[in-house]
Amino acid sequence: MIHQREIHHILDGYDREKITIATIGSHTALQILKGARDEGLKNLVICKRGAVEVYRQFRLADELIIVENFKQVLEKEFQEGLIERNAILIPHGSFVEYLSPSSIEDKLWVPMFGNRTVLDWESNREKEREWMERADLKLPEEFKHPEDIDRLVMVKFPGAKGGKDYFLARSYDEFERKIKKLQLQDEKFTIQEYVIGTRFYPHYFYSPLTERVELLSMDIRYESNIDGISRLSYILQNSHPEPSFVVTGNCPVVVRELLLPQLLEMGQRIVKASQELFSPGLTGPFCIETVCTEDLEFIAFEISARIVAGTNLYINGSPYSQLLYDEPMSTGRRISREIKDALKQDSLDRIIY
Ligand code: ATP
Repeated sequence: MIHQREIHHILDGYDREKITIATIGSHTALQILKGARDEGLKNLVICKRGAVEVYRQFRLADELIIVENFKQVLEKEFQEGLIERNAILIPHGSFVEYLSPSSIEDKLWVPMFGNRTVLDWESNREKEREWMERADLKLPEEFKHPEDIDRLVMVKFPGAKGGKDYFLARSYDEFERKIKKLQLQDEKFTIQEYVIGTRFYPHYFYSPLTERVELLSMDIRYESNIDGISRLSYILQNSHPEPSFVVTGNCPVVVRELLLPQLLEMGQRIVKASQELFSPGLTGPFCIETVCTEDLEFIAFEISARIVAGTNLYINGSPYSQLLYDEPMSTGRRISREIKDALKQDSLDRIIY
């Protein structure tokens, strides 16, 4: 693990007048680039040949660097080039998936927005659960042994794969039958109670500079084929296909105002617990994936400790960000605003690792 001190040493060599917001071309890159531009910061995007046209067409990047493979970002010369450009990398879901949490921890020398210690806490399901428990969130029940399955459960595999290969089971027999079909080799899995309710994915931002947790926006993920099955449930009654949970899009949503205090407190408690578990804790954007039950309780099943794709709905601001800011404030823009504020206060080291 590269020590924070070493990253800050690199950051000390940066020309503060020429900070460049950099990210890789996928996921929420357009939003991040626009956010930097709206805040008057230079920006650049690293993209694969096939995606160049997208980033050219929208003309949001000051510079476009083409790579054959995103792993190239980890090469020494490539990183030196980014450091020469005074680049601050903004991690997003695809960024972490393509480079891998361990490579980011051990091989990425370019200063990155946020606290990279969080990668270990969110990519390891046991640690993630410990974090959510410490924050006193309500969680779905977990079954250590498949023999104990006594209700509808979801079987999950490691890594953020957008629900790939997850399956549902109601009993030990069903579990055995389905897991055999996947022909896994010693793959770890988690058996979690399937919570029935409505899903909400609130997008938060924690600023260490103001010590405030902001609720910027919220979405519901559109998932295939489960969201298609629900439209045909009557017709498919006895013959429906195995449900899958592959993210295909995002829908905007707001919660009943009555539920906002619960959601705000959950965000605050996640930040507080992170500070206790891995100081200085979570910095910047994060999302808690939840299901709201008929008792109006939020059950949390995952944390994403960075900008999530659902924020792309709100490039011009959301119903919540409009109440917090008198200008269009996306999560991407909020990141650049934080960097600008830190530059003004000479505290970049508080938000970069
Ligand atoms: P990502 O990291 O991209 O969020 P993932 O691969 O870790 O994805 P999850 O987010 O854990 O997957 O789950 C995928 C989907 O499965 C969720 O969006 C939700 O629809 C459903 N889901 C997950 N856990 C539960 C649960 N306990 N009860 C009900 N639905 C669930």
